[in-house]
Amino acid sequence: MQTVKVAYFSMEIALENAIPTYSGGLGALAGDTVRAAADEGLPLVAMTLLYRKGYFEQQLDQAGNQSERDVSWRPEDRLEPIGMVAEVMLQGRRVKIQAWRYQVQGLSSRKIPVYLLDTDLPENSAYDRTLTDHLYGGDERYRLCQEAILGLGGIRALERIGYTGVQSYHLNEGHSALLTLALLERRLGSADLRQASDADIEAIRERCVFTTHTPVPAGHDHFALQLTREVLGDNLAGTLEATHCCPAGMLNMTYLALRFARYINGVAMHHGEISHDMFPGYSIRAITNGVHAVTWTSPAFRELYDRLTPEWRHDNQYLRYAAGIPLEEIQQAHARSKGALLDAVRQRTGVQLDPGILTIGFARRATGYKRADLIFFDLDRLREIGRAGRLQLLFAGKAHAEDAEGKAMIRRIFEAAAKLRGAVEVIYIPGYDLQWGQWLTSGADVWLNTPHRPFEASGTSGMKAALNGVPSLSVPDGWWYEGHFEGTTGWDIGHKELPEDHTDEAFSLYDKLERVILPLYSGRPLAFAEVMRSTIALNGSFFNTQRMLSQYKLNAYALGQSTAQPSSPPAAPPTTRAAA
Ligand SMILES: *Cc1c(COP(=O)(O)O)cnc(C)c1O
Repeated sequence: MQTVKVAYFSMEIALENAIPTYSGGLGALAGDTVRAAADEGLPLVAMTLLYRKGYFEQQLDQAGNQSERDVSWRPEDRLEPIGMVAEVMLQGRRVKIQAWRYQVQGLSSRKIPVYLLDTDLPENSAYDRTLTDHLYGGDERYRLCQEAILGLGGIRALERIGYTGVQSYHLNEGHSALLTLALLERRLGSADLRQASDADIEAIRERCVFTTHTPVPAGHDHFALQLTREVLGDNLAGTLEATHCCPAGMLNMTYLALRFARYINGVAMHHGEISHDMFPGYSIRAITNGVHAVTWTSPAFRELYDRLTPEWRHDNQYLRYAAGIPLEEIQQAHARSKGALLDAVRQRTGVQLDPGILTIGFARRATGYKRADLIFFDLDRLREIGRAGRLQLLFAGKAHAEDAEGKAMIRRIFEAAAKLRGAVEVIYIPGYDLQWGQWLTSGADVWLNTPHRPFEASGTSGMKAALNGVPSLSVPDGWWYEGHFEGTTGWDIGHKELPEDHTDEAFSLYDKLERVILPLYSGRPLAFAEVMRSTIALNGSFFNTQRMLSQYKLNAYALGQSTAQPSSPPAAPPTTRAAA
């Protein structure tokens, strides 16, 4: 028996570069959360799936056409097998689940166990054996099976492994929301779940915390009821219908999580407000995301902080005192980080970039709303701004295999790169991962962020950049509402008081580059270093997972004390535009 206070469930967790069980920001956040919990010894256990074939390996041809290959990795090289831990009934078949353990070691002596569930067992049918192969692969049926393995299987696995005392089940996004049914099942024993009373539901609510990451209704996971019946059986599907989580004939994982959570939050203050409007009747709070400071700080800046404020590793607030670091030291540490990035770029692509040129970084999942190609809106203007080799651009990011728009965006970047050749160097680095994330966010001079508003719930790569003194150039969305101080932590594109306008934003971007950033970078390097320094002091000291986790402890996790602002459940099912 082991007592833990928090059980953290996430469809993806980015543990280390060699374990390909993540696709993007959600996984990076989950990994950083676990690392922060390990640093302070929070009694937490995490649950996710194994993904034997990973999230694909990206290949790009000369024209920027992406193809995907399965990742081959050997779980037995990195993880500890702990045998069979649970069973779930899926499509009328008993599916057996085994687990693998990864231990995250932080600054404290406590290790945080992460369990990765796996159905590749000879006892299972050929189809069922593939259920934990691919992250975000397969069709709706495959996806619902995966979510049942994570939610239902995960709760049963915790019990079988011997965890007790959980005070908060933290649902990192709605994918794991079926865990609420497993908790209900455990409470009711052999009784029919459809008989659950309000008091039963209230008892489950008391223990669930839900973090939503999606700012638009279409992004919320949902499944047809007929499919839900086929996969989960009539009893569970009937229970879901009875709990009003199935508007418009669809099982909606967000509604399920909202219905069963005591505390609900968005991932930045602005996102909290948007979520509140999207789901009226629920009290939705906000806790802004962060990143794990030591993980995302480059070796050069780690050495600098270790020398000047050694406390920063266990207390990130000390980064506030970066304000006192001599500017030359900031410049030297950044030059080393940039050198490491340019070395990595040369090894990967054969291109030797000039370290003296303003280098703009952009690395994100390649999907439409991230608008990676906004900067190519007017190539003549960009060519003029970058004349005489004053500017170079680095991109990275994978498009989901089924995301035609994301793939087209990568091709457009390749086309623009070809047209700009000789004027502005543009390089797309294949295979964005945690390591490239670290090189790019620390080695670029400016971090570019141009999502369609309000699609970026938070965004975290700009926070990684801030820890390395790299200012952002960003449209007002997500975390940037809080992190932006014009000319101090970076620069705005467009204006938060105005509605989004593609053309206006493109020209605002060009203006900032041409009139503000380039003159500062090449003409007043010490003034540029001052922006870098205040970026660390203001944003590095705040947008980290140590601060984030302390806010979860104070506001969301019931760690013995009462929580602030518990949300009251609405009496009727929500009727909002999200139901459409
Ligand atoms: C940090 C990170 C992300 C998330 O970045 P966003 O700015 O939120 O898009 C995605 N992928 C990798 C590999 C990362 O390191």
